[in-house]
Amino acid sequence: MNLLTRLCATFVLMAVSQFTYSADHHAPSKTFKSTPLTDSAFLLRGKGGNILLVKGEQGMVMVDADYKEMSAALELVLAEHGGVEQVSYLINTHWHNDHTQGNDLVGHHAQIVAHDNVRTRLLTRQEVKLFGLVSEPYASHALPSLTYSQSLSLFINGETFELVHFPHGHTDGDSVVFLKHANIVHMGDHFFSGFFPFVDVQNGGNVEQMAKNVAAVLDRIDDETIVIPGHGPLSDKSDLEDFHEMLVGTIDEVKAMMAEGMTLEQMQAEGLSLDWEEWANGFLSSEAWVKIIASSLQAD
Ligand SMILES: [Zn+2]
Repeated sequence: MNLLTRLCATFVLMAVSQFTYSADHHAPSKTFKSTPLTDSAFLLRGKGGNILLVKGEQGMVMVDADYKEMSAALELVLAEHGGVEQVSYLINTHWHNDHTQGNDLVGHHAQIVAHDNVRTRLLTRQEVKLFGLVSEPYASHALPSLTYSQSLSLFINGETFELVHFPHGHTDGDSVVFLKHANIVHMGDHFFSGFFPFVDVQNGGNVEQMAKNVAAVLDRIDDETIVIPGHGPLSDKSDLEDFHEMLVGTIDEVKAMMAEGMTLEQMQAEGLSLDWEEWANGFLSSEAWVKIIASSLQAD
């Protein structure tokens, strides 16, 4: 398994004190690290969610767009590939700001594509109470202009991008994006590679359904698939299997503690088994992850 290299921060940095996270996942400067995946596909790692960029004669396709504060850096890195005006489509894997604030830059040129619920949420003020995050309504050019409910196929540059909605995983509007020819999958925030994930229970996410969704993705990919997590380093199927195993294992442990009638504080004090210790090293503490699991199970 790829253990954490550096998690370029997610919106937890806006954050509250009850959650611990290591300080070293601040990006050192506002630049993108670009990694070629194929002749035409690149992974761009900035501060927020990982970006996939795919080039071709019919224009570029991007998956996710990072924070607004990264937009100047995004414009620069896109200039190396022909310019932001060459982006034909921008896919949003979900509505969270660390994946969609760049819509404001790219949406002047590209069609923005997402699940129906992404547009619905970005039309109005959104909150993630856990992190004290507030998102004001997006300008019309920064909203998804093309939405779908279950799946959508985009044919461009000889590639097929298949967007599949997996319900009630990380949020209520998640897309997983499969590139059929290149054998690449962008997981959005259904995958934090190497560390406990955030699951937005307040906004339609669910930890058990997220584990089921990840299992469904595992059934569709193979050992050669390039797996892009929403956060964390470039990964493969075995990394996603490890993540799935952690989800199932930690959910089971919290369920068992709840069945004994333990309070949240008691469960946090008891803690998860040492099997999962290394997953607390990059983003959320075990206590924070136990709280998310418990809140999701209680919401069922
Ligand atoms: Zn997210």
